[in-house]
Amino acid sequence: MNTEDNPLLSMSGLPPFSRLRPEHVVPAIEHIIADNLKQVDTMLAANSHYTWENLVQPLEDMDERLDRVWSPVSHMNSVVNTEALRETHNDCLPKLSHYGTAMGQNVTLFNAYRSIADSDEYQKMDIAQKKIIDNALRDFHLSGVDLPEDKKARFKTIQEELSNLTSKYENNLLDATNTWQKIITDEAVLSGLPESARALAKQTAEQKEIDGWVFNLEFPSYIAVMTYADDQTLRKEVYTAYATRASDQGPHAKQWDNSPLMEDILRLRQESAQLLGFDNYPQRSLATKMAATTTQVLDFLNDLAVRSLPIAKKDYNELETFARDECNATMLDTWDIAYYSEKLRQKKYNITQEELKPYFPDDHVIGGMFKVVGRLYGITIKAVEGIDTWHDDVRFYEIRDNKNELCGQFYLDLYARPHKRGGAWMDECISRQRRGQELQTPVAYLTCNFSPPIGDDPALLTHDEVVTLFHEFGHGLHHMLTKIDYPAVAGTSGVAWDAVELPSQFMENWCWQREALDLISGHYQTGKPLPQDMYEKLLAARNFQAGMQMVRQLEFALFDFRLHMEYDPDDKFDIYGLLDEIRDQVAVIKPPSFNRFAHGFSHIFAGGYAAGYYSYKWAEVLSADAFSKFEEKGIFDSETGKHFLQTILEQGGSREPMELFVEFRGREPTIDALLRHNGLVA
Ligand code: ZN
Repeated sequence: MNTEDNPLLSMSGLPPFSRLRPEHVVPAIEHIIADNLKQVDTMLAANSHYTWENLVQPLEDMDERLDRVWSPVSHMNSVVNTEALRETHNDCLPKLSHYGTAMGQNVTLFNAYRSIADSDEYQKMDIAQKKIIDNALRDFHLSGVDLPEDKKARFKTIQEELSNLTSKYENNLLDATNTWQKIITDEAVLSGLPESARALAKQTAEQKEIDGWVFNLEFPSYIAVMTYADDQTLRKEVYTAYATRASDQGPHAKQWDNSPLMEDILRLRQESAQLLGFDNYPQRSLATKMAATTTQVLDFLNDLAVRSLPIAKKDYNELETFARDECNATMLDTWDIAYYSEKLRQKKYNITQEELKPYFPDDHVIGGMFKVVGRLYGITIKAVEGIDTWHDDVRFYEIRDNKNELCGQFYLDLYARPHKRGGAWMDECISRQRRGQELQTPVAYLTCNFSPPIGDDPALLTHDEVVTLFHEFGHGLHHMLTKIDYPAVAGTSGVAWDAVELPSQFMENWCWQREALDLISGHYQTGKPLPQDMYEKLLAARNFQAGMQMVRQLEFALFDFRLHMEYDPDDKFDIYGLLDEIRDQVAVIKPPSFNRFAHGFSHIFAGGYAAGYYSYKWAEVLSADAFSKFEEKGIFDSETGKHFLQTILEQGGSREPMELFVEFRGREPTIDALLRHNGLVA
């Protein structure tokens, strides 16, 4: 194909999604990679004195060009996955990995960067430029630039294999999630399920031209059955399918089994870390994070576990007693926990997510969220029509500052649908960059998996979903409100992974504030905001089972960290044995032996959280403490909002997170606010 005919290579501005075809991908990526490699050689040969202008800036531009093209491809692979797209996406992974390592292991290039770091020019650079050079030097080492040739080659092979393996892991999970469904024709089986869940199942059945109701493993369907279905057999069946996805167990046992991939991923991560001179993979993981040592991370998690376990046990005892005494349940199986918990929540607080939903129609929530950040940061956000996207459900918005200057834009893709990866996340489409007089503003993708609209009603969100939306929007604002002009450290780029959840978890807090809820909530029929009595119940129920929630997150974090630390390929390592051991230490719920949680733990096996899942709790110390300043000054205090904008959101990855936090808070973080918000102190 001619490069001029390839829309990926003639892009300016937003990606032309409707014109992108799988056959465009490989030629575009190959073209840019070849071009970049040639350009690097030319630059290195042409100069003997290296500067920002003749070396770093051109390299930043090359990276940016590759990211711009890869971003829509990888995004579409996640949200409108097809066989053809997946194949071409996978074809590119080894090429990209190969390219990344080749650049990272280029000794001449490394020496050129070193000469700049040692020059007078470096001393005169701004903070962001210095950070880019410091990060680059660090990353050369982490790509194996210092290794002898044979080890360099091995390192490169490992990176390539890892990129294939993690992608296969994710695809297995997506296929396993997509394939299973439960058709119900006897309405009696639906007993307990609220109208919205029935309607969604009915709509899913109609779309497939099936009579009755269809439940699947997409989150809105799964969670409704687990929370509300009176029929224990149905709950057990759905739980079993969900908890055994992509494994050797359950209804599709061994069909998309991630077991061998997990072994290979762990083994190769360990080998690559050891090649670089680390004792284990977590040490390698921490080389780019805020936490300094593996001991520091384990102590942090264990300390939280000690504080929360007694409360978790109390939560669990209460649930067990309630189920036994008031529901005649003699024992609690794992598929009973959410169900009886919901009954107990209703009894204690007399409120359900179902009753809250009519107050959170998606348009109203989104509009309210824009007002909240408008008051905090002085920005305005409005929808833009007629933008080319990958699906009809997708909306597009632009953000302007108080001088009406464009700050950034974003796509919002709210609803669950087949062939869309589960969960919620923010991803970068375009990064902020200044080229001479010209400013390129950032663009983000915000992706969720909420219940779609049913019939003629708008999509009604649960309060949990509202919190998720605020979370992802927090990441989005971090990316879009940055004032840093270099993509490598603009927005969320270059931010230590264990600090990157600060802006997102921080935003969640507004979902619990009366004054903010007046803006966010509005009954879809009457427009009335959430009534005060319901608000009080919502607040009272906020820390319902907070101990159980906390130890669950700690179980995941400890499992991730210790698994990567202790994994031994020569020892027929028992992954689930380790998980059991951790559960003995911190958990109050012991799932059945067929549970294959780790086979679907894509955060650590396919995402960026390997030996990094602790980041959520780590950053929650920062986000809770940052919010406590708003508790002191007022949640809409514009001075404090402006200060947060300037010290945290605008700075991106240009400075160390601790430095930025101290500048905002006036001191180092303490754990007090996190404990208080989670009800872990009196
Ligand atoms: Zn997040």
